[in-house]
Amino acid sequence: MSIVTPITKLLNIRVPIVQGGMQWVGVPRLAAAVSEAGGLGILTGLTQPTPEALRQAIRETRKLTSKPFGVNITLLPTINPPDYAGYSRAAVEEGVKIFETAGNNPGPLIKYFKENGCIVIHKCTTIRHAKSSERLGVDILSIDGFECAGHPGEDDIGGLYLLARAAQELKVPYIASGGIADPRGFVAALALGASGVNMGTRFMCTVESPIHQNIKDKIVASTERDTVHIFRTMRNTARVFKNKVSMEVVRIEGRPGGAKFEDIRELVAGSRGRQVYELGDPDYGIWSAGITVGLINDIPTCEELFKRFEKGAQMIVSGLTSCVNIQDEPSRAK
Ligand code: NAD
Repeated sequence: MSIVTPITKLLNIRVPIVQGGMQWVGVPRLAAAVSEAGGLGILTGLTQPTPEALRQAIRETRKLTSKPFGVNITLLPTINPPDYAGYSRAAVEEGVKIFETAGNNPGPLIKYFKENGCIVIHKCTTIRHAKSSERLGVDILSIDGFECAGHPGEDDIGGLYLLARAAQELKVPYIASGGIADPRGFVAALALGASGVNMGTRFMCTVESPIHQNIKDKIVASTERDTVHIFRTMRNTARVFKNKVSMEVVRIEGRPGGAKFEDIRELVAGSRGRQVYELGDPDYGIWSAGITVGLINDIPTCEELFKRFEKGAQMIVSGLTSCVNIQDEPSRAK
């Protein structure tokens, strides 16, 4: 069964599955493996230390795959504001044609990519932001439910509802993000009008993911109760793995009188979180994880994962079709 949707055509991919941009995880090997398997791999721009390094990462990815891939640029509060324009220019000059954007005030970035003939997938956690992104000219929306890893916004709207609302309101194609890690979620998203899905945590736990084996094993051993929100009091909410550091951040944020970013800066620094993936100590720093850690029970290759999704989707859809047929059949009783 081939699943043809508006995004398979627009992005020139075989299976409507996008690997979301993940800080420290979206590197050439993973992005290329996803693209080779039939989806859209995404390089995380800001994971590279400089725009020049991003150029090299794009070239490295091209050596690994001739299939389409994209670059993620995320605009969130940061300790050291990156050169967003420099990263974006480097990727455009290297011939990247697909961008995933996320975060605050993406207007100028979207304008720049559209002026350069690129396709833009923009992440939104509310319908009102999705509609304003449509007006900015994005090609695809990534509708990110509350289950997601990283930043779910401040309105706490679950994916099931958000996608149903997207079907009512949006004109451009949308993909479903957050809470999806198995074929059932994939088919459910398509049933809710999505043209595909975006998965992050599921791809963290693949053979080609660059993170330490201990962290992949930790994901496999985890349940849906193993994530927590930090930065709630700073309106920069992020779902991360529940560990000693994230629980300490939650405790500090909950102190009478609240906390300032400076009070938690050392605990939450991305440079420290990166060490989790390198050293394999899940308690060393903050690392992003979605509720789907509870659904993930193995560490397949990207190719195995795609085969599973395609086969699973086929079985689910044919099962649904037979149910519908049974219910729709006129009664034969005379
Ligand atoms: P960092 O070390 O600058 O900050 C660590 C965390 O603290 C981040 O979650 C950040 O949003 C938050 N933060 C920073 N300043 C803050 C403030 N004043 N108030 C509230 N929260 C604040 O960031 P990092 O983890 O090294 O990430 C580097 C870059 O990558 C950042 O620009 C970040 O936005 C981006 N990023 C991308 C992704 C992705 O999936 N593409 C995920 C996370 C972060």
